[in-house]
Amino acid sequence: SNTRPLHELSADELAVFRKEQQAAYDTLKAGGLKLDLTRGKPSAEQLDLSNGLLDLPTTYRDAAGTDTRNYGGLYGLTGLRQIFADVLRVEPEQVIAGGNSSLTLMKDVLTDLLLFGAVDSTRPWVQEEKRRFICPVPGYDRHFLLTETLGFELVTVPMREDGPDADAIAQLVADDPTIKGMWMVPTYANPTGDVCSQEVAAKLASMPTAAPDFKILWDNAYAVHHLTPQETKSADILSLAAASGNPHRPVMFASTSKITFAGAGVAFLAASKEQIEWFVKYLGVGSIGPDKVNQLRHIEFFGDAEGVLAHMAKHREILAPKFAEVQRILSEQLGGLGVAKWTDPIGGYFVSVDVVPGTASRVVQLAKEAGIALTGAGAAFPHGNDPDDTNLRLAPSFPVLEEVTAAMEAVATCILLAAAEKLAG
Ligand code: PMP
Repeated sequence: SNTRPLHELSADELAVFRKEQQAAYDTLKAGGLKLDLTRGKPSAEQLDLSNGLLDLPTTYRDAAGTDTRNYGGLYGLTGLRQIFADVLRVEPEQVIAGGNSSLTLMKDVLTDLLLFGAVDSTRPWVQEEKRRFICPVPGYDRHFLLTETLGFELVTVPMREDGPDADAIAQLVADDPTIKGMWMVPTYANPTGDVCSQEVAAKLASMPTAAPDFKILWDNAYAVHHLTPQETKSADILSLAAASGNPHRPVMFASTSKITFAGAGVAFLAASKEQIEWFVKYLGVGSIGPDKVNQLRHIEFFGDAEGVLAHMAKHREILAPKFAEVQRILSEQLGGLGVAKWTDPIGGYFVSVDVVPGTASRVVQLAKEAGIALTGAGAAFPHGNDPDDTNLRLAPSFPVLEEVTAAMEAVATCILLAAAEKLAG
């Protein structure tokens, strides 16, 4: 079979290639597969790593003597704040431990900003005539949906290997006061796996903004989710912002959703002390305190930050072979053909693939008809609209290894067939 870039083939060669791919696809379709590469969920095997939690806590009092069964303690248990302050490399007073979802914390922060304004706002955001929010693309679909739903106009900037295009962002925010903030996944970004460098973070922390209350929603969902022994450190955004005189600019989020149980973990928010007070003030009108029993369970389970990292190494053992399989199949089946570019992340939960422009939705459709569920084309862009129809997000964590193999072979076939169709015109 052909090993040359498709655009170098003659019309006849391309016709032959297309026939071959159609035959491969027909065989695939007849196989009656039923596989799913859509969402970045931990597998059952990963969840089993945390089954120890089901027998904890062994007591209901924490080290400070707090009765975790009762009401109270809006900031979360001190012991857990300490552990995750160490993990996130921030001060314990700058962290609160909340409920099970960081996405909920993000929604809380944004609705508080809209209704009440920030510590550095002149008025509630909702009173501004118009609000815009910067979205690095490709990015996390739920971020975009959240700001879209809350009435922000979404402004895209390109994501790069060292983080979002900070020069483009600096230019946008310099004289447009309607731009109130930006999304950011600093480490092992969803879906590219890219890591924001300290330099890019420093630019974002220090750039002049027309809005005095510009926020960086710094979602460090994958801070310790390393796929290799290289344990990349996240840029230190809180210190950088404080040092630049913009201490209230970043709001950091994290959670144990992909550390312990995705549906029953603990979420964290970190920010300047004033901003923590601000957040807790409004938190306290809707809650008398978080689930401290679950927090204590997590303290006992981890012990300390080292315990978290040791636990993450077990996840890595399960995840790394699946990511390696994705790379192997993409390289073997697509390498050199000029039909796709893909990321090779060293952490996180996703692989981002750019196929021949104009064919991403066709690939998703072909895959669906062959029994493989892929995340919808364009999902990593605001309003689900990838202007080039080129990007696919693959999530290999949930299926078992053999299913990853079967699904990726199928995806490669769909990418090739869609490319051949397109080039044959
Ligand atoms: N942020 C990012 C970047 C994510 O990829 C995810 C999960 N896919 C979340 C947040 C969700 O976090 P949580 O479970 O804490 O709500």
